[in-house]
Amino acid sequence: METLYHSGRILTMVEEEDAPEAVLVRDGRIAAVGPLDQLRVRAADAATEVDLDGRTLMPSFIDPHGHLLQHGMLASLVDLEHARSIADIVTAFRDRLAQREEGDRSPLVGAKYDPQMLEEGRHPTCTDLDAVSTDLPVFALHRSMHVAVGNSVLVDGAGLTAHTPDPDGGRFGRFADGTPDGYVEEHPAMAAFAEVLSPGDSGGLLPAGVADPLLAAELAVADYLRHGITTAQEGAADPATIEGLVGAARAGTLGLDVVVYPVVQSGTSAFDAHPEFAGDYADGLRLGGYKMILDGSPQARSAWMSEPYAPIEGDEHPGCAYPIHTPAEVEAFVRAVAEQGRQLIVHCNGDAAAQLWVDTAERIGAELPALLEARPVMIHAQTVRDDQLERMAPLGMIASIFSCHTWFWGDVHLRNFGPERGRRISPARSALDRGVRVTLHQDTPVTPPDMLLTIWAAVNRISRTGQEVGPEQRITTWEALRAVTCEAAYQYGEEDSKGQLREGMRADLVILSGDPLATPPRDLRELAVLETIKDGETVFRA
Ligand SMILES: [Zn+2]
Ligand SMILES: [Zn+2]
Repeated sequence: METLYHSGRILTMVEEEDAPEAVLVRDGRIAAVGPLDQLRVRAADAATEVDLDGRTLMPSFIDPHGHLLQHGMLASLVDLEHARSIADIVTAFRDRLAQREEGDRSPLVGAKYDPQMLEEGRHPTCTDLDAVSTDLPVFALHRSMHVAVGNSVLVDGAGLTAHTPDPDGGRFGRFADGTPDGYVEEHPAMAAFAEVLSPGDSGGLLPAGVADPLLAAELAVADYLRHGITTAQEGAADPATIEGLVGAARAGTLGLDVVVYPVVQSGTSAFDAHPEFAGDYADGLRLGGYKMILDGSPQARSAWMSEPYAPIEGDEHPGCAYPIHTPAEVEAFVRAVAEQGRQLIVHCNGDAAAQLWVDTAERIGAELPALLEARPVMIHAQTVRDDQLERMAPLGMIASIFSCHTWFWGDVHLRNFGPERGRRISPARSALDRGVRVTLHQDTPVTPPDMLLTIWAAVNRISRTGQEVGPEQRITTWEALRAVTCEAAYQYGEEDSKGQLREGMRADLVILSGDPLATPPRDLRELAVLETIKDGETVFRA
């Protein structure tokens, strides 16, 4: 099968000034890029010609960090994203409860509430959620997925009292008298509810049966393809998530490439357990390496910092937040992954977390170079400092930056960190200037898998209230496009097959309504994905 694309803007992502007339696709690969008359000679008589009619053809987008199946799972939970008050949260849960079949006693789970968007400006408490039900578990996940709130059924079921100490690497919220208020911060604290939410299960926070993984995969894949993404990540997979993805792959429902990173605290035996996915993609799925999470998130004031947060109402004497793992655990995890020669991607939001990852990679990498050869990644890198970036460059450590933070939480960061540190959130310019490779992600489901919004955010750095957030950290449209195509391909070790339009590369393509390089920066997010092509076949059309 052959397709000849012509008469539009063609971005090869090799050189910014490239402007070939045509691209010939044969059997899912790029057969040639060049002048139209020459490619017509090379094309078979039966080749389909696609007149781009002035639209833009470029490599499709590659997601450098997100959670594909989680996105699909959350899509089937109670949607709290649009709640603007705690009453809205209660109403959303009650509406779901009212639609339930008689006798359904399963927990009510909602997702994506954001205190910043609520008129109360705070997390709900167990008392608030008791208004939904006092005999069913009610569980609300914060947008960051790093914190959550449960009702009294969960608090009591977990046996939490005023005397329960906070777990290492986590925290229970408390009322003034010290009794738990239902708020659970970070996985070790959230895990207290897991046994009540999914008794006897693998300890996942999403109750078994709350979402069918095949349906979840289908929902998520459709959303990614709609946004022009043809390579996605499952960037902190527990064993149940891996099984779900394996099921979806075997059922032939993936429809894009998924790279899985098992979360390191659930062990480092995934490659042995799933040898069929240990090498190249099988049915669209492969194991990429391992994921380690070192801290929380800056918008929730749980990113582990070297200097205290700025004081705000309700937190007048702030600290630096805290690490999730002890140094000994981090040492053991990194060593185990390095000994296998696997890629390690590490969630670091705070600069203290970044320091621990850079220090550890330097030390263990000197002894076990396979750690560095596997292209280690700092995921989020939201407050990484210049002195740390200078050490990342020679290590070959990639900074995968969560750049749309400037849009979603730019105003919060300016408050949480004060103007100097706050404006430096997502420091992509500093990273590039120090020779660090940069990729840009959405951390879906934390934010939607919208690459054009991500590119717009990195190029403009404007908050929801219209404030400029550190304009000196802006990058160019070309740099942002590279970060979600060829640089993201490099992060996956797939730069020879994806991310550029060159002969022999996979024909993973996207057709946009306009040329990003010719679009004024402010208007980049108005561009639309019109068509997504995976291995030469159209998989989405607007
Ligand atoms: Zn993360
Ligand atoms: Zn993530």
